[in-house]
Amino acid sequence: MGRGAPVTMTVSSHQSTVTDVLGRPLRSLRLSVTDRCNLRCAYCMPEEEYVWLPRENLLSFEEMATLTSYFTDLGVDKVRLTGGEPLLRRDLPRLIRLLLQNRHITEIALTTNGILLADQIQALYEAGLHRVTISLDTLRPERFRQLTRRDEYARVLEGIESVGRAGFTGLKLDTVAIKGFNDDELISLIEFGKHYQAEVRFIEYMDVGGANNWSADKVLPLESMLAILGKHYGAIEPIPGRGAAPAQRFRLSDGTSFGVIASTTTPFCAACDRSRVTADGMWYRCLYATVGNDLRQPLRDGISAEDMRAYIRQGWEGRRDRGAEDRKALERVGMREARLIGIEKLREDPHLEMHARGG
Ligand code: SAM
Ligand code: SF4
Ligand code: SF4
Repeated sequence: MGRGAPVTMTVSSHQSTVTDVLGRPLRSLRLSVTDRCNLRCAYCMPEEEYVWLPRENLLSFEEMATLTSYFTDLGVDKVRLTGGEPLLRRDLPRLIRLLLQNRHITEIALTTNGILLADQIQALYEAGLHRVTISLDTLRPERFRQLTRRDEYARVLEGIESVGRAGFTGLKLDTVAIKGFNDDELISLIEFGKHYQAEVRFIEYMDVGGANNWSADKVLPLESMLAILGKHYGAIEPIPGRGAAPAQRFRLSDGTSFGVIASTTTPFCAACDRSRVTADGMWYRCLYATVGNDLRQPLRDGISAEDMRAYIRQGWEGRRDRGAEDRKALERVGMREARLIGIEKLREDPHLEMHARGG
């Protein structure tokens, strides 16, 4: 099936919307297809070995599509495939084709580190993937190796180059901006983005999980990013109309746009419409949530579609999560770092790691 091919499957014909305790609708789903990764970014997976999710627990693509259909019945229309590194999951285009049979889905996006992208890009395009986001934290090969513990910078570049060639537009490049590490590259990254018609988005370093030794002094806040960029480019104008998007967008005087995802210093929980499902079917209603719901077991036990929808509806209607805002409140009383999860606890429950729940 090619891009935009008609949709024929399986899901109920009417979509209802459900809102949580704070009135936030359920609109977007991040589907983690694997917890494994071929990099070891210091801010995400600093250890070499992890307690991986047991293989028999990983959802099949059919199970993912079925679970997704319950979410789309309740209002989700955007799906982002993530991981771990999603391209490590064999034959991802097949999952995309399955998901596109669901007529409620208007957008499927992929977040990848880019290493395996050049090889797979054509098949992903033909399967109907709509958007690609590539994570790129530095343009210096040696710095890349130091950050990721792998010598893969050249392959990431090939991945970036392949996206436009395959026919995609709207490439995004996501950079975790870390004070004292890559804060001297913001301008080079914007210029690099211009070259590939890509919008660069700078992400503030987040304190999810705990193995990554996050500390407040490594966070490059939104205001500092704008100061660095403003000094070089001059006036920076905010672009209105953010909606529920995590990124605040800005425009430089030459028309170039960029984004900042400032969840550490300027949380945007009030509009958050995102759910996350891990590769083994745990559902989290917040990136910071420590408790999730197992959807795999009921699914494998043969729960009816109606009961599963009711379960998810109930879960969303009870949602009060505002993880980033809660962390910010802790900061005011000097307790933010105390909430980082210790390595032993992370080993007991690997779902608590950023790489398991998909960033
Ligand atoms: N492996 C893929 C990638 O790197 O694009 C997808 C999964 S990764 C967990 C998704 C996003 O989360 C990446 O853009 C990554 O930079 C971001 N991320 C991971 N840990 C982070 C942290 N501590 N703070 C901010 N962003 C983080
Ligand atoms: Fe880096 Fe993404 Fe892998 Fe995390 S999951 S280590 S951010 S490439
Ligand atoms: Fe949404 Fe949780 Fe992130 Fe806030 S911290 S924006 S509620 S996922």
